[in-house]
Amino acid sequence: MFFITHHHSDHVDRADKLARELSLPMMMSQYTLDRLSEKKGLEFFNNIRVQVVGESDLVTRWLEREVLVYEVPGHDEGQLAIAPKSLEWFIAGDLFQGIGTVVIGTKEGSMKKYFATLEKVIQLGPQVVFPSHGIGLGGTNILEKTLEHRKLREKQVIDLKSQGLNNEQILQKIYFDIPEPLKPYAMANIESHIKKLEEENRL
Ligand SMILES: [Zn+2]
Repeated sequence: MFFITHHHSDHVDRADKLARELSLPMMMSQYTLDRLSEKKGLEFFNNIRVQVVGESDLVTRWLEREVLVYEVPGHDEGQLAIAPKSLEWFIAGDLFQGIGTVVIGTKEGSMKKYFATLEKVIQLGPQVVFPSHGIGLGGTNILEKTLEHRKLREKQVIDLKSQGLNNEQILQKIYFDIPEPLKPYAMANIESHIKKLEEENRL
């Protein structure tokens, strides 16, 4: 089984060649299948059996325990995680990073869903969480810290917006110390915070 967490390039590049070479079926969400077909063309899936999966679907077994799918949108609309029902571990994709924070872009990302997904996984309480980039970490502390951090950013955005600052000025205030090449990503996060707050009538 070849499990695709989401459609971003650093998670799928050469996945097609590997799946063909190893004769493995590919599993992914319908959203990921649509985005990959659009981005890479249908030939990406040539001679590969694709299985679309969603929340609670059984993907495999680990030590006789059922390994299930968990939908974890926010960073990417179609992102999926997998974990055994007994929750000894949880492979979370780009839900969090060992160091730094993940980007919540406005196109395929949703800050509102990101908050809800973090709360969902914290509630599930897996023993170990694995990000796509970085090492596994015990408990859900990293997810609680990530949620806390996003809540702090949200509060900063509300305060600065109420002072009449525009997005560019908010970026300079909150992210004055980050390297220039990272600023577009920081801006995406700010815009996603604003979108969430507008949807919730909080701005
Ligand atoms: Zn990603």
